[in-house]
Amino acid sequence: MIQIQNYINGQLVAPKSNSYLDNIDPSRGKVYSKIPDSKSEDINVATAAAKAAFPLWSNMPKEQRSDIMLKVAQLIEERMDEFVGAESLDNGKPESLARAVDIPRAVSNFKFFATAILHFASESHYMEGLGVNYTVRKPIGVVGCISPWNLPLYLFTWKIAPALAAGNCVVAKPSEITPMTAFLLSKVCVDAGMPAGVLNIVHGLGQNVGDAITKHPDITAISFTGGTQTGKTIAGIAAPMFKKLSLELGGKNPNIIFADCDFKTALSTTLRSSFANQGQICLCGSRIFVERPIYEKFRDAFVEKVAKTKVSFPTDPEAKLGAVVSKPHMEKVLSYIELAKEEGGKVLTGGVQVHLDGEYKDGYYLRPTVIEGLDYKCRTNQEEIFGPVVTITPFDTEEEVLKMANSTIYGLSATIWTENLTRAHRVADEVHAGIVWINSWLVRDLRTPFGGVKASGVGREGGFEALHFFTEPKNIFVKLGEGSH
Ligand code: NAD
Repeated sequence: MIQIQNYINGQLVAPKSNSYLDNIDPSRGKVYSKIPDSKSEDINVATAAAKAAFPLWSNMPKEQRSDIMLKVAQLIEERMDEFVGAESLDNGKPESLARAVDIPRAVSNFKFFATAILHFASESHYMEGLGVNYTVRKPIGVVGCISPWNLPLYLFTWKIAPALAAGNCVVAKPSEITPMTAFLLSKVCVDAGMPAGVLNIVHGLGQNVGDAITKHPDITAISFTGGTQTGKTIAGIAAPMFKKLSLELGGKNPNIIFADCDFKTALSTTLRSSFANQGQICLCGSRIFVERPIYEKFRDAFVEKVAKTKVSFPTDPEAKLGAVVSKPHMEKVLSYIELAKEEGGKVLTGGVQVHLDGEYKDGYYLRPTVIEGLDYKCRTNQEEIFGPVVTITPFDTEEEVLKMANSTIYGLSATIWTENLTRAHRVADEVHAGIVWINSWLVRDLRTPFGGVKASGVGREGGFEALHFFTEPKNIFVKLGEGSH
């Protein structure tokens, strides 16, 4: 049985309590590793280490910080197979996805921010006859990063990399459901020569480790990605302490398909945007709206494709969907399918657990599910399910679809399919979302702001937005002219 450790002050260490939690392989439904059941005492040690390391790290020339981060990226790349295997085993996702998306993206996160920081300059303004006014951006100090299980290393490093690049020291907590690649990252940091205390990774439950990070007075900023309810709890504690907060939360994203779309592309991309990573991506288009003239044609072609989609164990190269992340999560998704039926929905395909053979017979597999006939206001259409379940609904007018699309508490992303560029822009402008894709889905550019509006979050990640979050501006004026001011 693998037993992982915390990474504190440059060393791999056991939790103070010496107690461990079971970690389950969702593809087999079996415990396969033990993870530290850390508590606030471990966060205290990690935070003290981060605080002690801050003067060294923040004063280090950024070229040197950048070199260490590039070394981290290089080592992850060299250990790609190990990272891919661990991510897929831990999360249940197809290995092909971890290899194509998750781990390369973690590498890119380090490379991108190691480079971006070199272009992140102070601003200065010459004030005629008066002097020079310049603004430097200072690292905050010790920052807390808390991340979810759906894209484990990808989202963990999306926070850690900009935080470190900007000169902060970090106390980070990966999801207790998917901790393995964060542990591999600890080993990479040791081998890359990351100075002790600069990055600390503490494993354990949200109500212990996450809560202790949120409450620690020496952690002055929190970057959180996860559920809206958890975000609310964190904000409730952190805001009165005047901590800086970045919250990336849930979504219930509309996928709007107009009759004049490129049908074939809309169809194949909708399959991906509905079910990639078992539908467990905050950006998945879980509500599909199709304009009436093509509704039946699109629905039937979509359902046919979905019904043929292969659900299999993660190492199967043909697997399009693997296992969902845990038994409680599988049960939650199944309960939403029951709710949808109670609300008058018709399951067009899927709706059931899949039982694979042999060693995978106890894994948590679900058939991708399409439901129609639901009112846009019902719970199934309003609440985040975060699994391989989509609803499909016809619409007649742009006004009507916008009303339905904008009816939820969320506002993360939206997808629009139409060949009419004017309409595409108009709908993109009106839809409640921080990110909009026109005739595409999940095209990401690390330079652009990422995040949502309404209950989908506060603040933005990505590019200079992330570096702004992880720094504080300090404005300094130097008088050069004559006279007194
Ligand atoms: P979650 O909120 O249950 O957990 C996220 C992290 O917070 C975990 O590390 C968890 O241990 C920790 N946590 C739990 N309780 C805590 C507490 N009281 N204090 C501090 N930390 C605590 O979310 P999840 O189930 O891991 O992830 C799924 C959710 O994440 C979905 O709602 C999804 O939409 C969202 N998500 C959002 C984005 C985005 O960028 N907007 C990206 C991915 C996932």
